Amino acid sequence: MRAMVLSRPGLPLEARDLPPREPGPGEIRLRVAACGVCRTDLHVVDGELPFLGRPVVPGHEIVGRVEALGPGVDRFRPGDRVGVPWLGWTCGACRFCTSGRENLCIRAQFTGYQRDGGYAEAAIADARYAFRIPEGYADDDAAPLLCAGLIGYRSWAPVRAARRLGLYGFGAAAHLVIQLARHAGQRVFAFTRPGDTAGQAFARSLGAEWAGGSDAPGPEPLEAAILFAPVGALVPAALRAVEPGGTVVCAGIHMSDIPSFPYALLWGERTVRSVANLTRSDGDELLVLAPTVPLRAEVVRYPLARANEALADLRAGRLRGAAVLIP
Ligand SMILES: [Zn+2]
Ligand SMILES: [Zn+2]
Repeated sequence: MRAMVLSRPGLPLEARDLPPREPGPGEIRLRVAACGVCRTDLHVVDGELPFLGRPVVPGHEIVGRVEALGPGVDRFRPGDRVGVPWLGWTCGACRFCTSGRENLCIRAQFTGYQRDGGYAEAAIADARYAFRIPEGYADDDAAPLLCAGLIGYRSWAPVRAARRLGLYGFGAAAHLVIQLARHAGQRVFAFTRPGDTAGQAFARSLGAEWAGGSDAPGPEPLEAAILFAPVGALVPAALRAVEPGGTVVCAGIHMSDIPSFPYALLWGERTVRSVANLTRSDGDELLVLAPTVPLRAEVVRYPLARANEALADLRAGRLRGAAVLIP
């Protein structure tokens, strides 16, 4: 099977032909139909997440059809359409797994990082961590839901009651979260790179009532903000933009260092928190909610062989919506 492989960080992905693997106990093999390109893939490829010492196939927004079942799999049948997210395996036994917080599992394995992912014609997944994809979504339209949508959902859930919500960084996750937020009746203020008038227009087209540069506060104090851009300097900027009692959620897995800031920005019972990974419940909830919104990803398609170009476009901020690779 054809796959795009990362040999070590800093190198472009290489197209290779790998022998197809048989699924082990509890595993399924998918014929990949589409795989989204996520900022976390960039963090892996660029070495901002630690290199694990062996080549890996990136990609954790996989949509495909089951083509082989390992021993003991009864959740799926050959031909079923499934999605495979970032959370690829958990231990089920640690203090986090046994308290409903499998997203924090100390032995977790992530798709496209510890486990080979979906930048390939086929992929192996643990069947327990795969989701059924709702009807009404084409394969490529569904792929971004599996991380941009899911991490977006997890970062939005704690602030879904805020009336004035700021979104910092208007990429794949934010363009889905704004749809959840508008559906829930929230007013949304979008903060982009200063001067990114195209990104600001995109945000307005999806229902932001204001969009502007992240270097200045918006027109009104926010009740909450979600940071999707991996820029630590936005933490004090967002704290400055939220009113007392407000919450700033950091949604990314990696962020540049946060500069020091005066305590007055945190004072007034403001909260700064991160969200990490996802639980299977997050996935179940989002995939029920998505068709009711209905959540629609704006997708930019690339053939699998052009994965490096998709990553470069994401790195440069040239994408409108979500990049998806098609094998
Ligand atoms: Zn665990
Ligand atoms: Zn991701």
